[in-house]
Amino acid sequence: MATHRTKMLIIGSGPAGYSAAIYGARAMMEPIVVQGLQPGGQLTITTDVENYPGFRDVIQGPWLMEEMKAQAEHVGTRMMWDTIVEVDLANGSPFRAIGDSGDEYIGDVLVIATGAQAKWLGAPGEMELGGKGVSACATCDGFFYRGKKVAVIGGGNTAVEEALYLTNHSDDVTLIHRRDELRAEKILQDRLLNHPKISVLWNKTVESFEAGENGALSHLRLRDTVTGEDSNFSCDGAFVAIGHAPATELFKGKLPMDDSGYLVVEPGTPKTSIPGVFAAGDVMDHTYRQAVTAAGTGCMAALDAERYLATLEVAEREAAE
Ligand code: NDP
Repeated sequence: MATHRTKMLIIGSGPAGYSAAIYGARAMMEPIVVQGLQPGGQLTITTDVENYPGFRDVIQGPWLMEEMKAQAEHVGTRMMWDTIVEVDLANGSPFRAIGDSGDEYIGDVLVIATGAQAKWLGAPGEMELGGKGVSACATCDGFFYRGKKVAVIGGGNTAVEEALYLTNHSDDVTLIHRRDELRAEKILQDRLLNHPKISVLWNKTVESFEAGENGALSHLRLRDTVTGEDSNFSCDGAFVAIGHAPATELFKGKLPMDDSGYLVVEPGTPKTSIPGVFAAGDVMDHTYRQAVTAAGTGCMAALDAERYLATLEVAEREAAE
C-alpha cells in the first residue's frame, strides 16, 4: 500500500476530470486522476458523437475519451487504476482519500468529477437482459433496433428525447409512462405526441422484462396503475429513461447536496462549501449534462484550484515570516 501525494487530486475520469487534469498539469499542479470503475465515464458506452466541437466528422465516444486521457497524460497527469472508497474532508486542505487498492491519496486541492449514471427500474429481468434488448441509452444502442419495435420507459425530457431519437431507426416506438401526463418540456411533448411513429401507453408500470426462446427480450409485463390489470407488451428493445443519479455516495454528510443528491456549488463556479474542494461535470449539473459542459466546468475547477493554491501559498509564507 502506497501513499500518493499531489497538489491536485482528481476523482473521476470523464470529460470533467480529464479537462481539469489537462489544465492542472499545464499549471504545474502535477495532477493525479483516480479513474474509478468506468474509466472514461459515460462516453465510453456511447457510439457516435457529433456535438463535441472540433470534429467535422462523427467521432466515437470511447475514442474521444482515449484522446482526452492521452492528452492529459502527455502534459504530465498521473493516471491511477483505482476507485476511491473513502474521503476525509473534515480537516480542510490537504484532503485525504483511500482507494479500493488500499492506497492513500493526498491532495492540496480536490476536484470531484465522479459523474452520474442512468437509473434503473429494479424490475426482474432488467439486468439479465442488459445488452439483449434492455438498454439505458438510445443514442448508444438505438442502431441495433433498426426496423424493430421498441419501447421507452419514463416521462421526462430524457425519455421523450430518447423516443424521438429512436424514430431514426424504428417506425414503431412506444413511450410507456406510469402517469397520465408527462413531465417533459411542452415543446418536446408536442413533438412526441404528434409524431406518426410514436404511441404512448399511459398509466403503466413495467413489472418485469421477459425473454423469449432465443434468450433476448420478447415482451414487457405491464401493470395498469388505475385498473391494476396486467398485460404483455411485445417489443424487441426497451430503453429505460427514468433519470440519472449522481455518483455522490462518498460525500454524503460531508458536502451539501440537493434533493436529488447532486453536489451544490456556488452558482456559476465549481466551488463547494469547503475551500479547496471543487466539483465539476455531471456530479454538480443535472441540467445540461453534456460532454462539452462537463469539460468546461473541469477547466473552471482547475483555474479556481490554481487560484486557491496561490492564496494558500501566500498564507503559508506570511505565517512563516
Ligand atoms: P426526470 O427526473 O425529469 O424524469 C424522470 C421520469 O422517469 C419521470 O417522468 C418519472 O415519472 C419517471 N420515473 C422515475 N422513476 C420511475 C420509476 N421507478 N418507474 C417508472 N417511471 C419512473 O429525468 P430526466 O432524465 O428526464 O431529466 C433530468 C433532468 O435533465 C431534468 O431537469 C431535465 O429537464 C434535464 N434534461 C434536459 C434535456 C434538454 O433540455 N434537452 C434533455 C434531457 C434531460 P414521474 O413523472 O411520474 O415522476
